[in-house]
Amino acid sequence: SSTVVWFRRDLRTHDHPAIRAASGRASRALALFVLDPVLLTASGRLRVEFLHRCLRSLDRELGGRLVVVEGDPVDVVPRVAAAVGASSVHVSADTGPYGRVRDAAVAERVELVRAGSPYAVTPGRVTKSDGTPYRVFTPFAKAWLDHGWRPPADTDASTVDWVRPDIGEGLPAGEGLPAGEGLPDVRALWQAFRDEKLPDYAARRDRPDLDGTSRFSAFLKWGVVHPRTLLADLGRGEGAKAFRTELAWRDFYADVLWHQPESARRNYNRKFDRMRLDDDRERFEAWCEGRTGYPLVDAGMRQLLREGWMHNRVRMVVASFLVKDLHLPWWWGARHFMRHLVDGDLASNQHGWQWAAGTGTDAAPYFRVFNPVAQGEKFDPNGDYVREYVPELRGIPGKAVHRPRDPIVDHAHERQEALARYETIKD
Ligand code: FAD
Repeated sequence: SSTVVWFRRDLRTHDHPAIRAASGRASRALALFVLDPVLLTASGRLRVEFLHRCLRSLDRELGGRLVVVEGDPVDVVPRVAAAVGASSVHVSADTGPYGRVRDAAVAERVELVRAGSPYAVTPGRVTKSDGTPYRVFTPFAKAWLDHGWRPPADTDASTVDWVRPDIGEGLPAGEGLPAGEGLPDVRALWQAFRDEKLPDYAARRDRPDLDGTSRFSAFLKWGVVHPRTLLADLGRGEGAKAFRTELAWRDFYADVLWHQPESARRNYNRKFDRMRLDDDRERFEAWCEGRTGYPLVDAGMRQLLREGWMHNRVRMVVASFLVKDLHLPWWWGARHFMRHLVDGDLASNQHGWQWAAGTGTDAAPYFRVFNPVAQGEKFDPNGDYVREYVPELRGIPGKAVHRPRDPIVDHAHERQEALARYETIKD
């Protein structure tokens, strides 16, 4: 008998409950990834390239047996299952709004067997004693720790007989992946981080100039590694504790989104629906391209375009700037981030934005407005981060580099403007 393992955000073969479930059900399985045009057209070049690299690595792990098909999964997945005579399709659960609707539609046409999720604790599992969801991070994180998670799932993908792509009669023709490189050795990267950077992680994680974080967000986003695998390997100490808390944020935001899917596109705190916003496209473009005249903001926005990644501290600063200095809707910025971030993840991104905008779950209070110059002087004290990404400022030594140059707005003035607008909606 045959089955299908449909990979989505679980592009790995180790610690993989869905592969385990599939191998228990059938002797042969087809490994499928569907390139969904809806998701691809919203993704920038770096993001798509990163996905391709993940898929090439997965294909290698599967002995070259990954079948990649472009099309609407609701259509493709049942057809592929029929082509190999499979009565079921195995997946890791997708708990985001788009994936839930898509999976429900697929499940109407073929049996969909869900095992595991991309999170340490599946969204919806950690609730208050009265069964309602947490709205504040700290008590969630405590309950999440108390709940705990399973040890890594012992998975041996080599025990599965992966069906050769050309065996299925009538498979939709796959374009295949463009040739190129796969991922670096992710386990070796993790070990290097754990041994060299984790001990100082708590002290260094806020400094964009220091490279003190794991840069594992994209691997986690695409499921190249499961958070449970990392949690099991963290050990003790301040660094481990701080890192565990960051993974708790990831689970928290997924939980919030699961309970309130509409929070992906509208204010979690509906009071802010009444806030007056601007719609200046020119200022928005200046922000997107890193031309605001505020060096830390410009460095962050250019890092995003150059690397498809931005340091967390700088994400907070540029997001605050868009919302409180330019008075633009947070969802404009969130969409730009989702297009370009290789780790772009709806739950973490939209709620990270809502946190910075003051509209989210236990968000930064609206009236606490980040000063982009002071943030630069504090978290990039020698100016090295700015000089790396804003080449025209390379001649300016030390923290003098954080002084605004031809700023598109005056921060002190816009701060007052933001507070005045907030006054009109305050309870
Ligand atoms: P590390 O410091 O090494 O953290 C380890 C892991 O913990 C990360 O890989 C990530 O999975 C998780 N994590 C860390 N901080 C957060 C957080 N605040 N919220 C949720 N998870 C966290 N993270 C994304 O993965 N995808 C996004 O699309 C995303 N968008 C964001 C947008 C804004 C406006 C803000 C303020 C934050 C956003 N974050 C997002 C959270 C955070 O910035 C990144 O996870 C982090 O910078 C990734 O770098 P790292 O892997 O080196 O992090």
